[in-house]
Amino acid sequence: MRVSRVVVKNFRNYKDAALDLSDGRNILIGENAQGKTNLLEAIELIACGRSDRASNDRELVLRGESEALIEVSYHSAGYSETASLILTAGDRMSRKAKINGVSQPAGKKFAARLTTVSFKASDLNLLRGGPKFRRDWLDQLVCKLKNSHIDLTARYDKIVQQRNKLLKTFFEKGSVGPSGLDELRVWDRQLAQYGSQIIKHRVHALALALPLAEDYQASISGNREKLTAQYIFKQVESDTDSQSSSMSVERASEKESLGIDELKLMPLEDLAQLLLAQLKSRRQEEIVRKQSLSGPHRDDVSFALNDFVASSYASQGQQRSLVLALKLAELKLVSDRLEEPPLLLLDDVLAELDLSRQGMLMQLVETGMQTLITTTDLDGFRSEWLNGAKVVAVHAGQILSDKVNQEKLADPGLQSD
Ligand code: ATP
Ligand code: MG
Repeated sequence: MRVSRVVVKNFRNYKDAALDLSDGRNILIGENAQGKTNLLEAIELIACGRSDRASNDRELVLRGESEALIEVSYHSAGYSETASLILTAGDRMSRKAKINGVSQPAGKKFAARLTTVSFKASDLNLLRGGPKFRRDWLDQLVCKLKNSHIDLTARYDKIVQQRNKLLKTFFEKGSVGPSGLDELRVWDRQLAQYGSQIIKHRVHALALALPLAEDYQASISGNREKLTAQYIFKQVESDTDSQSSSMSVERASEKESLGIDELKLMPLEDLAQLLLAQLKSRRQEEIVRKQSLSGPHRDDVSFALNDFVASSYASQGQQRSLVLALKLAELKLVSDRLEEPPLLLLDDVLAELDLSRQGMLMQLVETGMQTLITTTDLDGFRSEWLNGAKVVAVHAGQILSDKVNQEKLADPGLQSD
């Protein structure tokens, strides 16, 4: 899978720009706040249908404009496509997606047949952030392995919304009543049905990724650290997502959670029953809080090193290593499962990795993966990253490819191999 061209119009700080990519390594270089990450975000919007840093589409449209366009052309063995997304940020926000000029029905949930794996500084939120970061990472990983997961999560989100609406009416009326209870039971069954499938998908993906992450963690730590993880069904505290883990001082084994293997083997129907029982037990609390308090939208994953919860006990360096191990596992898993390597996006992270960790990543990239790297500076890169790379400068929302290539060609340190 190769991306050949990215066009952005009125997107973030770009008025109108185009980036042509080489099939191998591409480096976007520029000072801070010039638009490097914005370009990666545009590609991810096409590939995953979402941006992990924009809270709404209005932020994505160039200030003062009402409509943004992203167009990404990519090809693989069996097809060649141009996917476009128009983001409208007027009174009502909307999205229109097209493939080769043909409108796509999915709208907000549109994701093209393009798979990316990204490494970013914000990946540390996988350990330091609230449960939502881990859920989102896992759902994204599942989507890369199984396309239908996008539809499943979209349906599930709607069920939770409808159920919350109903809980709100109970709260406002001050009572549930027999017909209300019947209606709630319908939503409970749907939540349990779709929710149990989401959990199954997540657990399956985790079970595939963890042995790989465990190996990376062992090799980064010189076999001193054993990585384990648990899928957490039910928070110990019924608090909404917070930045601090509610089980911060406990040992991993003491949490209210089920082992990944246990969950993997559990029949779907049993899992749905477990969810139904949880919903039933918290009904009163749900009405008071006007929120659905059980289900995959509340779940979490806990990572531990040598049985100690990593978010609370691991040092900063250990946390960085663990996040790298998880991301390398994601990259390896996605590359192995897809028939061809994904597009790798490295946003400002390469220079942060020491040479041996860059080497671990390089081993995976050497399988012929197209890579797009952003950086403010080429210092600190292993030479393999630069050899043969297409270097493009980004300045104030403009892409200045020709200028950099001429400068870099004159630099013997960047001659291709
Ligand atoms: P760094 O090296 O610091 O990561 P970067 O080159 O990756 O920088 P980006 O995050 O791509 O920078 O771009 C940030 C710039 O885009 C900021 O100057 C920001 O103000 C601008 N920007 C973001 N959204 C919009 C928008 N909707 N309209 C106009 N400008 C925007
Ligand atoms: Mg950036």
